[in-house]
Amino acid sequence: MPETILITGILGQDGAYLAKLAIDAGHHVVGGVRRSSTMNDWRLQALGVARDVELLDLELLEESNIYNCISVVRPSRVFNLAAQSFVGASFNQPLFTANVDALGVLRILEAIRAIDPKIRFYQASTSEMFGKVLAVPQNEETPFYPRSPYGVAKVFGHFITKNYREAYGMHASSGILFNHESPLRGEEFVTRKITSTLARIERGSDETLELGNLDAKRDWGHARDYVRGMWLMTEQETADDYVLATGVTTTIRRFLELAANAFGYHPEFEGAGVSEVMRDRNSGRIIARVNPKYYRPSEVELLVGDASKAAAALGWSANVTLEQLVDEMVAADRRSIAT
Ligand code: NAP
Ligand code: GDP
Repeated sequence: MPETILITGILGQDGAYLAKLAIDAGHHVVGGVRRSSTMNDWRLQALGVARDVELLDLELLEESNIYNCISVVRPSRVFNLAAQSFVGASFNQPLFTANVDALGVLRILEAIRAIDPKIRFYQASTSEMFGKVLAVPQNEETPFYPRSPYGVAKVFGHFITKNYREAYGMHASSGILFNHESPLRGEEFVTRKITSTLARIERGSDETLELGNLDAKRDWGHARDYVRGMWLMTEQETADDYVLATGVTTTIRRFLELAANAFGYHPEFEGAGVSEVMRDRNSGRIIARVNPKYYRPSEVELLVGDASKAAAALGWSANVTLEQLVDEMVAADRRSIAT
């Protein structure tokens, strides 16, 4: 049966992939967009769904706006993907981040509770909540220890979702998603920063890729796999919390090396700490260097998830390997720079 699905943050990476999944399944997709002077729907265009979605002004800071949208749209499911999603920026804009990423979730839950508590709800929680990890690997039972205003705000979003499920019987699920990337990832995130900068360098740019902590480890999957997991959570008879992860962890340095290999370089690392550089053995050129400007005031050093609950209950697992992900991102950035 075709349903009406409301996705906040539809212009972001996950919003675009989720919109495509829902449209391909025959549903009517309404997307929430915050007001700005320019409409940037390049991700929806890239997936060929820009003309299939209905867009609405939806600002997570405005309770009345959220209430009116949900009243008018009357969706059967709401996916809350909107957020100030960049950890680095959350140190400079902690209050804004808290308002959107923590209170924004509560505003939506309150609107749903008032309009129709049967509307199913998905909250985009994050592995950043594990922060300074208290267990390896991390699963749904691992205590949180967030290390950024972003992580702290998301912990509120996570627990308020759980609270509305328990207090009011709402079908409110929280997906604790480990990092997921794609050619549609924002360029401020380290994976896409690497692939897009290397693509510009290949086309003749004389810039050097400047990065922060190369020792941090992340569990990276492909966004397409992860939106499938979100969808499955809202299909279950009862709502719950689930970790989605690949179970494989990799340093930033290794991601950089894989991407450099995909561009045909022969990467060699020299130096340590703030003096570390990556050079191409053949040309001798320094391709990347560390710049402490990109260090964070407090860092999440190691993330690796255990998605066995999602595997057992949802039949979910990540299909795309890190090597496939790197190849897809490199190919896409090469193509886009060539056109
Ligand atoms: P994204 O590309 O940054 O997309 C977030 C979207 O939220 C953007 O379209 C943004 O609008 C919108 N937004 C920001 N502030 C808003 C506000 N005040 N009102 C309404 N909309 C607002 O993020 P993503 O990678 O798709 O991630 C989707 C969600 O999953 C986020 O909540 C993120 O925190 C969470 N998450 C992501 C990952 C990951 O690895 N990607 C992992 C765990 C959890 P603009 O387009 O105008 O900027
Ligand atoms: P996050 O896991 O949500 O913070 O995703 P990011 O892609 O922003 O960062 C992943 C890791 O890469 C973090 O440990 C960062 O400190 C590290 N990192 C190293 N250099 C950079 C950089 O230049 N930009 C970003 N965004 N992260 C970097």
